[in-house]
Amino acid sequence: MTFDAHSHLQLPEYDTDRPEVIARMRSRGVGTVTVGVDHASSEAALALAEKHPDIIWASVGTHPADGGLDAFDEAALERQAAHPRAVAIGECGLDYYRLGEDAEAVKKKQADVFRAHIRVAEKAGKTVMVHCRPKKGTDDAYEDLVTILEAERPRLKCVVVHFFVGSKEIAEKLITLGCHFTFGGVVTFARDYDVSIAAIPIERIMAETDAPFVAPVPYRGTRNEPGYVVEVVRKLAELKGVSFEAFQARTEETVRAVFGI
Ligand SMILES: [Zn+2]
Repeated sequence: MTFDAHSHLQLPEYDTDRPEVIARMRSRGVGTVTVGVDHASSEAALALAEKHPDIIWASVGTHPADGGLDAFDEAALERQAAHPRAVAIGECGLDYYRLGEDAEAVKKKQADVFRAHIRVAEKAGKTVMVHCRPKKGTDDAYEDLVTILEAERPRLKCVVVHFFVGSKEIAEKLITLGCHFTFGGVVTFARDYDVSIAAIPIERIMAETDAPFVAPVPYRGTRNEPGYVVEVVRKLAELKGVSFEAFQARTEETVRAVFGI
């Protein structure tokens, strides 16, 4: 199976043709972890994973920048985390890209909610799916992520840093902390991530689509979908200097270990 380690197949973007999108995944031998961004979308992710247990798994959590932080409820997340189809907790984390007026208060709120996700993941024995986005041209959110993980990582099963955009130095710190990384469609048309991809051992890398966002070449500019992960795998294999088959087999092993599937 070729894995898309991070998609959002439960979002309304697929409400009109989800069965066709899932049929295309099947014909390409693609499986995915569909990721919640708030309570309702996490519930929808679980329902979708229940309906297609052979190729869809769920991650449950609240995104740091999608406006759901005020409604975040740790007890409700704990209930979702206990669901057998939940293989990860997230996406959760720190997003400093557009902090606005009350930057310090927003950062504190994000860190509090992120730590709550970490507690839930620890209790459930499940992997943490991290969203971390710094202010443009800086590593600020990653530096805070490293500080949090230095304290919390030993109690966690695995940590996946989704769509890593940080520097090689930050990548090295996160590798030392035992993190895994996902890269998506952007690697098929931007060369900004080649240095960190080269620095990360192949067994710590997974492919993702983040569908419906940012489709890979040759689908660029259209709605993304998990079946397109094949293009991401092709590019990552090339960047790591291995065959498609070798990269695909390696990442399948990684995904199965990280998510316990
Ligand atoms: Zn996402």
